[in-house]
Amino acid sequence: MNILDMYKNDKTLLSFEVFPPKKTSPIESVYGVLEELCDMNPAYVSVTYGAGGTASDNTCAIAGKIKNDYKVESIAHITCVNSTKAEVKNALDSFKENNIENVLALRGDIVPDSEPKTDFRYASELTQFIKDVGGFHIAGACYPEVHPEAKDDVSDIINLKKKVDAGAEFLISQLFYDNKTFYDFEKRCRLAGINVPIEAGIMPVINKKQIQRMVSLCGASLPAKFVRVMNRYESNPEALREAGIAYAVDQCVDLIANGVSGIHLYTMNNPYVARRITESVSKLL
Ligand code: FAD
Repeated sequence: MNILDMYKNDKTLLSFEVFPPKKTSPIESVYGVLEELCDMNPAYVSVTYGAGGTASDNTCAIAGKIKNDYKVESIAHITCVNSTKAEVKNALDSFKENNIENVLALRGDIVPDSEPKTDFRYASELTQFIKDVGGFHIAGACYPEVHPEAKDDVSDIINLKKKVDAGAEFLISQLFYDNKTFYDFEKRCRLAGINVPIEAGIMPVINKKQIQRMVSLCGASLPAKFVRVMNRYESNPEALREAGIAYAVDQCVDLIANGVSGIHLYTMNNPYVARRITESVSKLL
């Protein structure tokens, strides 16, 4: 199903992100998580690609399983910076064989000291390539607090517009902890003529180290209120998890009240946390 059709009734979509198991674990080790997540009836589940040493093949198998066995729409992520056109085409062929219709077209992170392949430089080029191949609905990533490599916020938005013009039909945002950054970003997008739906990426804190690692990677800022919560409960994992869920629910309620197109929950493959948040907001959607 085309995810764009889901936005038509003006309700906020709630969707999930999962990642494939590490190469050392069998693919079946994630099935229990998928079953629980799909049971919460999300609008769709997206599956990351090649991040954290996972096998890209598993992205296809997992996104296919979500769609074909659990009957929930799925999005397969695909990156391009370390791939040739032939490799991307092979991955797209496998997606098609598995009945996957939606892809999140990403550049991927450049590994320091490695020689990236030269077929694709930016996600917009990958987006154009997938559009030319045909048969997919394409989403793109966006950065409310500006992509860490961008020259400045203006050029980042200009580049995002190129991605949308190349064929990205909706956008999913990087995580953020201050909703104002998302609203300001959405306004900048609209002023620049980016009129596609923009989903807000929400990552609940479940442990302090995980959040510090993510934040140092993506450059998200941490509001004082959020830092107080992390510092206060860092040595009490259960309390920190409860506070993290409450903070995420608070963000979601405000986003829904402001009419955001979608909330994309970075579940970190944790169905308990996803369920608590889903149950708190499902009647508001
Ligand atoms: P791009 O859109 O290409 O942007 C990258 C940088 O290049 C930006 O600074 C942009 O301003 C600049 N740029 C773009 N076009 C041009 C141009 N024409 N000229 C000059 N500069 C330009 N990574 C993974 O490895 N696997 C995943 O599954 C994954 N999933 C993600 C999901 C989401 C929702 C998000 C937000 C990120 C995800 N990432 C994933 C991380 C992503 O790969 C990195 O953030 C990467 O550094 C940028 O990818 P992009 O697709 O946004 O790149």
